[in-house]
Amino acid sequence: MPASAYDIVVVGSGPAGQKSAIQGAKAGKKVVLIEQEQGIGGNCVYRGTIPSKTLRETALQFERLKRSSEVFEGRLRLDLPMTVLLHRLDEVVKAHECYMADQLSRNGVTYRHGRARLVSPHEVQLETVDGASQTLLAETIVLATGSRPRSVPEAPVDHEHVLDSDSILSMIYLPRSLTVLGCGPIACEYASTFALLGVEVTLIDRAKRPLSFMDPEIVSVFQRGLERQGGRFYLGQTVTEVAWDGVSSVVARLANGMVVKSEKMLVALGRQPNVEELNLEAAGLSLNEKGLLPVDDHGQTAVPHIYAAGDMLGRPPALASQAMEDGRRAVSQALGLPVGESVNQVPIGIYTIPEIASIGLDEEQAAARYRGPLVGRAPFTEIAKGQITGACEGLLKLVTDPSGERLLGVQIVGEHATELIHLGQMALQDGATIDRFIDTIFGFPTFAEAYRVAALDILGQRRKRQENAKAA
Ligand SMILES: Cc1cc2nc3c(=O)[nH]c(=O)nc-3n(C[C@H](O)[C@H](O)[C@H](O)COP(=O)(O)OP(=O)(O)OC[C@H]3O[C@@H](n4cnc5c(N)ncnc54)[C@H](O)[C@@H]3O)c2cc1C
Repeated sequence: MPASAYDIVVVGSGPAGQKSAIQGAKAGKKVVLIEQEQGIGGNCVYRGTIPSKTLRETALQFERLKRSSEVFEGRLRLDLPMTVLLHRLDEVVKAHECYMADQLSRNGVTYRHGRARLVSPHEVQLETVDGASQTLLAETIVLATGSRPRSVPEAPVDHEHVLDSDSILSMIYLPRSLTVLGCGPIACEYASTFALLGVEVTLIDRAKRPLSFMDPEIVSVFQRGLERQGGRFYLGQTVTEVAWDGVSSVVARLANGMVVKSEKMLVALGRQPNVEELNLEAAGLSLNEKGLLPVDDHGQTAVPHIYAAGDMLGRPPALASQAMEDGRRAVSQALGLPVGESVNQVPIGIYTIPEIASIGLDEEQAAARYRGPLVGRAPFTEIAKGQITGACEGLLKLVTDPSGERLLGVQIVGEHATELIHLGQMALQDGATIDRFIDTIFGFPTFAEAYRVAALDILGQRRKRQENAKAA
């Protein structure tokens, strides 16, 4: 087939690739988007965000049903087919696919189904499912190939008994018990969801605490919640061997001699970038010692017209929102469009039950930078909406500078944390003071009111600190 020429060739149709392609097309460029999987949307749609959150929503609906009546002692049948639990997934995925396909065609982006690899700095080879191959000439190339679950030799994934986050929802039935290797966001999110559905969940990790990059006080609310659901944590433990016993259990052996048995296992030990199959060397690119493709703040690689975006960069936070922003930025930079200021404060959302969200500095990070930052707390037990909805298990923390005036960060655990965080994000971005939260009339009863309660807590500490300073 003769070579086709494009202004921009984008590899990968996840959030990063989609946004790259749309941004390029909106600027009037001839863009082609290549995807090796059947549908558009990437891991985000098929194996990540959307499926995991669909199952989580089912678990929450079940929980709400239980909560709504004190006499109702509901339990899900544990042999429930996963299709029943994921009943809305097809609808959600189809709606997303339609919307994305429509958006791409409306903007005139050409979509090609096939696997892409670089063959020279300006040439991308497209291999289609029927084995045909075509060379695409590109002015600009955006690599947005995402990531895959990290595998470890001691826990070989067979996708039947030992699963990873790509295959966990392909289980036919809800298992009775599940061991989760790992204590990162994906591990903790799935552990919470399955525990709420009545599965006996055990988390094992080398780390001394789950979600070790988050504020410990916030994480402890999640940890207690999961333990109350019957979940168990074996922390500071190393798994030496995992094997299916051939009958009914996956057997995990720990370095301390312990043996943990369960019906299924989820290996969730992080992700690794999809970079190996791109044939980067052909374009003059190479990986660094960590196996990552080096890029600047705009995703530009060492070859100036080749950009990379999203999870394939292997840098935190690996979130759909960050991937979209990476894609937009990369193409804007490539086309000489205004890129905008680099946003260094991305809200982190972890969909555990209860959910967790964070923006800016946490207590520990603030203490490392400033002497004596103030921290205001609003436990959800003090929030009327928490009492009314029975969702008292929550805490909002505002972190300020030592004067108690400048907001440095917000951490939340509890219902709607991933929505509530945006209020803090706007305040941080606008350089709002703590007094702004006190002078604001929040709707009542709302969870957002927690911002005012935490701000009042800081006000009290601020006054005390000022009085002590005067007295000294
Ligand atoms: C279980 C789970 C839950 C998650 N939950 C959330 C969440 O709640 N919120 C959130 O923000 N993020 C969440 N994430 C993370 C989010 O899914 C990713 O950050 C996001 O999908 C990254 O987008 P991307 O475009 O970089 O890559 P991807 O979405 O991984 O897309 C990359 C695409 O490139 C394609 N590709 C790869 N190589 C080639 C090739 N050579 N040729 C052609 N195509 C290729 C792949 O098939 C894939 O479709 C979750 C992830 C997982 C695994």
